[in-house]
Amino acid sequence: MRDGVLLRAVKAVALLTFRVDLGVHRLRQRLRREHVYVLGGDCRRCARCCEAPALRAGPWIARLPPARRLFLWWQERVNGWSLTGEDKAQHVFVFRCSHFDPATRLCDSYESRPGPCRDYPRLVLEQARPELLPGCGYRPVSPRAIPLRRELEARGLPPEVLARLVKELYLE
Ligand code: SF4
Ligand code: SF4
Repeated sequence: MRDGVLLRAVKAVALLTFRVDLGVHRLRQRLRREHVYVLGGDCRRCARCCEAPALRAGPWIARLPPARRLFLWWQERVNGWSLTGEDKAQHVFVFRCSHFDPATRLCDSYESRPGPCRDYPRLVLEQARPELLPGCGYRPVSPRAIPLRRELEARGLPPEVLARLVKELYLE
């Protein structure tokens, strides 16, 4: 169901908090010179990321029952996301979004969509081996893609070996 005025206001505040947290997190990453993949490609507007949105929560949310209940309550009541699955080892929660219409593949509250919807798939780029949804138009690119690719090309490798390395090392 489309967000009303109150929900839009609550979500605007939550989005601001999300952006501040994310900004601090990414600034820390830059200062620590952490290896994070760069986002290549474009959004194809396929809406695959709306079919089963997923969130990785902090370990304390997964382990502390009151924090977990509050987290899931917020997702359900504010974001319209109901829990459908969970990877307990990775602290990943998978949801069904009530704003997504599978027939039209549109979001009924796109202007007030939560931060993770706007940021996808950038957080995935922090994984050691990022895997985006099948068909997603984005791709992870190594921050050293250009020099590494030049180095590989200069070695005169067979084309199939070069193609495999380019793919496996995220140099496309
Ligand atoms: S899955 Fe990727 S390409 Fe498709 S809508 Fe989401 S971000 Fe865009
Ligand atoms: S809120 Fe909108 S953009 Fe986010 S998952 Fe649901 S349908 Fe997709």
